[in-house]
Amino acid sequence: MSWRATILTLYPEMFPGPLGTSLSGDALARGLWSLEARQIRDHGIGRHAKVDDTPAGGGPGMVLRADVLASAIDAAADEGDLRPRLLMSPRGRPFTQADARRFAAGPGLVIVCGRFEGVDERVIAGRDLAEVSIGDYVLSGGEIPAMVLTDACVRLLPGVMGAGASGDEESFENGLLEYPQYTRPREWEGRSIPDVLLSGDHGAIARWRRQEAERLTAERRPDLLTSR
Ligand code: SAH
Repeated sequence: MSWRATILTLYPEMFPGPLGTSLSGDALARGLWSLEARQIRDHGIGRHAKVDDTPAGGGPGMVLRADVLASAIDAAADEGDLRPRLLMSPRGRPFTQADARRFAAGPGLVIVCGRFEGVDERVIAGRDLAEVSIGDYVLSGGEIPAMVLTDACVRLLPGVMGAGASGDEESFENGLLEYPQYTRPREWEGRSIPDVLLSGDHGAIARWRRQEAERLTAERRPDLLTSR
């Protein structure tokens, strides 16, 4: 069975969106993974299918109800479903390339997209949701974060990237940012491609790339070097 993403959202029409084009879209069409966007509102309460309410203790905005979300999650993933359950949340653990590798190696993901002020805390514990953040800023909903996370996983699935392009040398894979890339033309606006890359000396090319990766990482992301 192929890798399966189930997204719980109030805006299922946002999917597949960008995931339906290019690398991830081709892979979707080829059946290398599947995507199901489910409407949380189908589990809303009463005639108006209410999904949210005012925060206990007061304050601005609305909070997604625990009972509504739990019933949406239960309908999407039964007890035998071994996929990790994530809640997109700025409070979550920062998502990394290592997480993408780990999730891509599993059966898929169930992802809950928050909206408004967030979700009732009790459903996080009650349905064992792992909170995941895509960065230290606040977006208006979990849909774009869910797309970011899904895209990062899908491109790592077997057969999605071209033969040989395992992504092993990409940024973050070895704790370094990627070395600079060049292509034709050889000269452009007075700027040329570094000679070593045209030398045909594979050892020298590998050494140059390594040095450049280390230089860029030290310059831009010294934190990556200390955590290696
Ligand atoms: N009041 C919340 C923010 C709510 S933003 C707080 O201060 O933490 C509404 C929803 O957008 C969130 O429930 C979450 O699902 C999503 N979201 C916003 N920013 C995000 C981020 N950086 N990473 C992941 N999800 C995010």
